[in-house]
Amino acid sequence: MPLVPRFIATLKPYETARTVDEIRRLYRVPRVIKLASNENPLGPSPLAMKAMSDALQGVNVYPTGGAKLREELARQFEVRPENVIAGSGSEGIMSNIFRAFLEDDDEVLTASATFIGFRVLAQSRGVGYRTIPLRDWRFDLPALARAVNEKTKIVYLANPNNPTGTIFTRQEFDDFYAHIPERVLIILDEAYFEFAKDNPRYPDSMHYRYDNVITLRTFSKAYGLAGVRIGYGFAHESLISALLKVKLPFEPSSIAEAAGIAALSDREFLHRTLENNARGMRFVMTELQAAGVEAVPSEANFVLTLWRSEEAAANIAEALLRAGVIVRPMTAYGVPNGIRISIGAPEENELLVEALSQAIKNEEVLCSR
Ligand SMILES: *Cc1c(COP(=O)(O)O)cnc(C)c1O
Repeated sequence: MPLVPRFIATLKPYETARTVDEIRRLYRVPRVIKLASNENPLGPSPLAMKAMSDALQGVNVYPTGGAKLREELARQFEVRPENVIAGSGSEGIMSNIFRAFLEDDDEVLTASATFIGFRVLAQSRGVGYRTIPLRDWRFDLPALARAVNEKTKIVYLANPNNPTGTIFTRQEFDDFYAHIPERVLIILDEAYFEFAKDNPRYPDSMHYRYDNVITLRTFSKAYGLAGVRIGYGFAHESLISALLKVKLPFEPSSIAEAAGIAALSDREFLHRTLENNARGMRFVMTELQAAGVEAVPSEANFVLTLWRSEEAAANIAEALLRAGVIVRPMTAYGVPNGIRISIGAPEENELLVEALSQAIKNEEVLCSR
């Protein structure tokens, strides 16, 4: 089809996880749980739900481009509204970053096993996409810094990283930053910030604002609003004003903006979310270890499990589906023998552990010790 550019024709699109309805239908299991997309197992923030329902009254009027949410974020995080952007999820903002800052000959750089949304955006823009292997399941920041060349325009870092759940420390980021030229934009994707922020080694990027760093965060994970599409970013005002020029004028929707504002004030829900996750993570990690399953220690709301081979991982994921547990095989994320499992509510975690212990009866799937 001559209308479609080569880089689009060859693009591997983002594949969303299997859904509960789909698996219930295909596998005829009565109870299906989804531990595949790092969603909040407690549901959405109740304050956000109330605010969305109140906001329905006003949906005949165009939204204001997130102005109120930007003000609220500026107040809470002690920056100016000019340093804040709101958008259709952090991925929506990331797509605007690609539109605002990239030229055709530019290249982007990141780790080989990281958030797939970044690769899809880069490839749909037709720019060069280079990756550096992880080291011990973490971003290899020194190697990334060495890999920057005159074509590099964006370096993408996810902290905590998805799918590994690992973080880099403040010290590591400082060393990295010192080696990055100012003409390179660093995207710090902090989609799982809330889960990692209390770790003293975690670098909260709000504490050091650099002119060429943009922080991205989201309401999709800790606040349970993935379906609403609302995220935000912090950066120097010159970067934000460039983003405001290219973003759709009426993004985010008024419903999404209302949800975000209310979610920010829902401390009780955030607290419950973090408690549930910490407890669930301890439980799942303990059980995985007892079962002999290799897993990468995580600072987020999911854990990367490792299997003997890609085939073993596929078999496990399939066995879990048959038991009504949806997880995410990680071939597309660059870890062919990996399965990412989100932490659920207590009963979900128990169901997972039970289904896994059935699935691994076949010894061939475990990593050799
Ligand atoms: C889930 C996730 C996102 C997507 O966030 P949205 O705000 O829903 O677009 C972004 N980055 C990473 C690393 C994620 O895991």
